[in-house]
Amino acid sequence: MNPDRAGLNALMEITSRPELIFTRGEGSWIEDHQGKRYLDFIQGWAVNCLGHNPPAVVQALIRQAAELVNPSPAFYNQPSIDLAVRLVGASCFDRVFFANSGAEANEGAIKLARKWGQLHRQDAYKIITFNHGFHGRTLATMSASGKPGWDRKFAPQVPGFPKAELNDLDSVRALIDDQTVAVMLEPVQGEAGVLPATVEFLQALRALTREHDMLLIVDEVQTGMGRTGRMFAYQHAGIEPDIMTLGKGIGGGVPLAALCAREAVSCFEHGDQGGTYNGNPLMTAVGVAVFDVLAAPGFMDGVNARAQHLSEGLLALSAKWGMQGERGVGLLRALIMDRDDGPALVEAARQRTPEGLLLNAPRANLLRFMPALNVSVAEIDTMLSWLDDLIKQIRG
Ligand SMILES: *Cc1c(COP(=O)(O)O)cnc(C)c1O
Repeated sequence: MNPDRAGLNALMEITSRPELIFTRGEGSWIEDHQGKRYLDFIQGWAVNCLGHNPPAVVQALIRQAAELVNPSPAFYNQPSIDLAVRLVGASCFDRVFFANSGAEANEGAIKLARKWGQLHRQDAYKIITFNHGFHGRTLATMSASGKPGWDRKFAPQVPGFPKAELNDLDSVRALIDDQTVAVMLEPVQGEAGVLPATVEFLQALRALTREHDMLLIVDEVQTGMGRTGRMFAYQHAGIEPDIMTLGKGIGGGVPLAALCAREAVSCFEHGDQGGTYNGNPLMTAVGVAVFDVLAAPGFMDGVNARAQHLSEGLLALSAKWGMQGERGVGLLRALIMDRDDGPALVEAARQRTPEGLLLNAPRANLLRFMPALNVSVAEIDTMLSWLDDLIKQIRG
């Protein structure tokens, strides 16, 4: 039984979607309208950090919905204070502005850096970003992104985002002029295919930006909230950026994002920044519940142990099939194949019976894995064994 076409056609066509309607989820599993279950190693694109419908999120939503949903961002509410205090306490940042999506948080980071440039750097406004980087789908964040072809989509771009090469300090240095106010990057380029910035590169960027009185902005929308085995990925490099954005995992599946900044950089004046839903207690209460699970003693050790297990399993598959290895940090990993099998594997995995498998191929020659942070070792092993069979099936 296929879903009704007229119903599907009422939605704007923005991507090619399989004719399935997902109806329920639990942990690492999601179920479609026909009752078929799928092992989910996408998790809403690294969003459901505790899996589908985790009790912590469900309970926080129910509890908060009965108390207060939205007093307006012009007034304080307790969950937003509680979450800001937690984020500030766990990071090098002093102030938090909550947003509803990663792109919106990044827009805020860009505005904050430009504001700081107006106040302290004679209107410097350029932000060096990176080829293949991804920062969102608003006009400014598309301009900041380095996806091939995006410079011509929806032209003209928002100016002021010269592009450097990841892990190439000279390419950054060559772009710096009087107008450059900041460097912005993902600690691990996610959409580009899980390409980590090296520790040395992050440290050198921090030194370079200090030397030139520029800000360092980390887009941790995908890498933040424990995804890489530390609460924030910049912590692996032992550096202190000036601005950080969070999204995806911070809400455990609900729309929540954050712009975090050090006190010296938190220079918005009244009226510069805001938004109808920003910091609403319904979403920030979920953020508090998610944060408390991630910050519980032992949780991150478990993430690192399971990341190690996944990494070793992917390496073994790579060796068995003559592929080119795997890479990543924590539970954001990629299997690098020797040919463009990605789309075919994603398709075959979803169509697998009796249970399907949800995988993602951000590039045709690689698969990206972003399971729930509390995925079990047994679920990882199931995924690996199914993937092995699927590779056999695809390669005949
Ligand atoms: C997903 C993502 C974004 C955009 O977040 P949205 O919530 O989709 O707007 C920005 N930056 C990075 C690194 C991302 O992975």
